[in-house]
Amino acid sequence: MTYVIVGGGLAAAKAAQALREQGYEGRLVVVGAEPHLPYERPPLSKSYLQGKSEREKIFVHDAAWYADQRVEVLTGTSVTAIDRAAHEVTLSTGDKLGYAKLLLATGATPRRLPGDALYLRTVDDSERLRDVLASASRIAIVGAGWIGLEVAAAARAAGVDVTVLEAGSQPLLRVLGERIGAAFADLHRANGVDLRLGVKVEEISGGVRLADGTRVEADAVIAGIGVEPDTRLAAAAGLQVDDGVLVDASLRTSDPDIFAAGDVARAHHPLLDTHIRVEHWANALNQPAVAARAMLGQDATYDRLPYFYTDQYDLGMEYTGYVRPGQADDVVIRGDLAGREYIAFWLSDGKVVAGMNVNIWDVTDDIKALINSGAPADRAKLADPTIPLADTLA
Ligand code: NAP
Repeated sequence: MTYVIVGGGLAAAKAAQALREQGYEGRLVVVGAEPHLPYERPPLSKSYLQGKSEREKIFVHDAAWYADQRVEVLTGTSVTAIDRAAHEVTLSTGDKLGYAKLLLATGATPRRLPGDALYLRTVDDSERLRDVLASASRIAIVGAGWIGLEVAAAARAAGVDVTVLEAGSQPLLRVLGERIGAAFADLHRANGVDLRLGVKVEEISGGVRLADGTRVEADAVIAGIGVEPDTRLAAAAGLQVDDGVLVDASLRTSDPDIFAAGDVARAHHPLLDTHIRVEHWANALNQPAVAARAMLGQDATYDRLPYFYTDQYDLGMEYTGYVRPGQADDVVIRGDLAGREYIAFWLSDGKVVAGMNVNIWDVTDDIKALINSGAPADRAKLADPTIPLADTLA
């Protein structure tokens, strides 16, 4: 019996680990297109990009671990097709590999723009960008999302002039809304970034030309304009795909022998009672244990709230929860927004649906409890730092 994991990122490594921890003894094969063993991506736009952490530290496990656990990792290899009837995948080498259970952990791919922009997704991209930051005097970044802002911070730390070009009215607008997005705009401007909002990029060629004719000179252009889930294999195999591979709360696809986890999975969330796809590290870290149990025929559901974090300049933050698209942008601030030491709460129907702690620590469990309570919160108590978070329900 063989279990096959398609993809070579964090979710793949964690799935292999979980399968062994949960007692799976059979053949286990991880098929990853990159030439490296699975690694973690958060450092690629933070400490590793800034030369503050070592290369070995990014890998989930070393080669000895895979050998010891009898996990075959086929690096530099992709799966080109899934034959569900034959329970078999075709590899880019032309070989075929039978499976009893299959996990899709194919991740996501950066959206691209025409022109000569650089992208940041892989460790090779991060190393290339680090070289660019070491020699450039000015760069332009298209997109003020997580990549754009973390790269801006790394570039400023390297003494590089930075222009950030964002189509929306604030950075991170979709996730954080106007008010907190504006706080991130202030952070970057305070650190010397030329942040231009509501601009349209017309052409990237040795710099950037905007739709209004303005030219932004730059030694290099980096684009971070979001990612597309890698659903091609799943779609070609006739699995249900809708902005991600659709899976139930056990991370099982419409085929009972095929599962999905990480960036590519659009999973039913039992507490939120909707399908969500989360493009963050914690999801790739934690979903695989549930997928592994489900692959082994055990009852398991993934009901963790989305969680992510960022480090930019001297700001560190953690975000917990989920705001549905179009949900009211009702934000309560506890602490000092301008001083960048606060917790922001997003409320819907009077209930906390997400919370973000900025330069305040050890509150994630309290924020989770508020959200999971499903009970209305008292806005005045939420805003009052002297009242313990556990006492803020209405
Ligand atoms: P992202 O966070 O989705 O941000 C993309 C940004 O680019 C959005 O603000 C988007 O605006 C904007 N945009 C889209 N098209 C544009 C265009 N043509 N011109 C200018 N701006 C444009 O994606 P990302 O920053 O590329 O990051 C890639 C992935 O890595 C994401 O999944 C992200 O979650 C993940 N990541 C996470 C972290 C973290 O958790 N700390 C760090 C780095 C990367 P609209 O929203 O209006 O389209």
